[in-house]
Amino acid sequence: MDAWTPRPNRGEHTTQIEMVRSKPGPARGGIVTTDDIVGAYTHFWKGRTTICTFPECDACDHHRTPRWYGYLAIIAEATKVPAIIELTPTCIPPIEEYLAEYGTLRGATVTLQRANKKINSRVLCTLRPSGYDKGVLPQPVNVRAHLAKIWELTAVQDVIPLDHGHHPITNGRIRNVAPPRPSA
Ligand SMILES: [Zn+2]
Repeated sequence: MDAWTPRPNRGEHTTQIEMVRSKPGPARGGIVTTDDIVGAYTHFWKGRTTICTFPECDACDHHRTPRWYGYLAIIAEATKVPAIIELTPTCIPPIEEYLAEYGTLRGATVTLQRANKKINSRVLCTLRPSGYDKGVLPQPVNVRAHLAKIWELTAVQDVIPLDHGHHPITNGRIRNVAPPRPSA
């Protein structure tokens, strides 16, 4: 196989995008470009985030509790730069309320703020219509593909492959493995 590779592997040409997490201080947020949440139970395990694959899960086997996080594609209100915002379970009631009223999260302005100065205090989530027509907003970034890259998943289903197609995983399970290199 030729070692020269004129293009990066699929997925690697997507630019790094910011992960917006709520922290004490000013509210953070943006305009949602996806219709609904991408969510997963995850562990911080062996120094990095992994998706919980219960009932066959190494972290669960070691009595670690999985925590749910949700993710939305957004654009920054001022700059329109795409980002991904991280949600916690406390965000769900206002999101369900908004979905019941508007049928989609696309076009909503979402803001997250910690209830107080403690780093782990409750996340307060608010949504309101941004005023932008859904038709003029940019297409959302592929949240699953970005998460797969951040978490170094190579897997399955609708996660975009990061390599030339020779997946180490073929039986539908998600597992953390380093993505293959082009010259491998
Ligand atoms: Zn688990």
